[in-house]
Amino acid sequence: MLFLNIGSGSKGNASFINTGETNLLIDAGLSVKRINKALKKVKKEVGNITDLIITHEHSDHVNGFLTLFKNNNFNLYMTKGTAEALKIVDYHEIVALKDFQIGNLTITPLPLSHDANEPIGLVIKDFKASICYITDTGYIPYQILPLLENHHLYFLEANHDPFTLTTSSRPLFLKNRIAGEKGHLSNYDSAYQFSLMAGTNTKHLIHAHISEDCNNNDLIKKAFQEVLDSKAVNYQEITFYYAKQNESLDVIYL
Ligand SMILES: [Zn+2]
Ligand SMILES: [Zn+2]
Repeated sequence: MLFLNIGSGSKGNASFINTGETNLLIDAGLSVKRINKALKKVKKEVGNITDLIITHEHSDHVNGFLTLFKNNNFNLYMTKGTAEALKIVDYHEIVALKDFQIGNLTITPLPLSHDANEPIGLVIKDFKASICYITDTGYIPYQILPLLENHHLYFLEANHDPFTLTTSSRPLFLKNRIAGEKGHLSNYDSAYQFSLMAGTNTKHLIHAHISEDCNNNDLIKKAFQEVLDSKAVNYQEITFYYAKQNESLDVIYL
């Protein structure tokens, strides 16, 4: 299985997974041109996409969707709430905590807490490796924690530094929205959750959905070091990556 983050942040999100005949796109919040350009890295193009999962209806996750959908033929998966928000009727309904299959992949949709109709995260497994994909959530419900443990790759939101957010010039309602329980994970939330989830299989952590105004890579690194050291998590074997808004990351092979 290979994983490619095409871009991530409040202006657009998309990731790509290939295994066997399956070419799965997660979210289509970037332009078709951007997606196409990134897919060249793995010798694919948008016409090769077989499946698309949309995590929720916010524009940074669906911006490129209509153009992509109009001109290509793939299976579309989302929750009922997301479909209602997007006014889409022709799709495969997925339900939180109900596993479904795409080719070799077994996928578990995860219930999240975000100001969208019915947002989800994902656990994606093939016979060899597994990916935990969580962005756009104010917190991670503790009930789902057992499902999140010991995956090979984590794509996990580290949205904002709480101090930078509080002291930023953003309007108060927006600060409250971001920091609220239906908002986004801060660096410390993300680090704490990761300390509970990481295991001996864990080799890759991609910090995702990083705020351009209220965060930077050094602040994320500092928060993770502090929390992981205090929890005595051994992270020597783990490679850390920082997702970018305007560029794709290197391909990760699992
Ligand atoms: Zn988002
Ligand atoms: Zn969102």
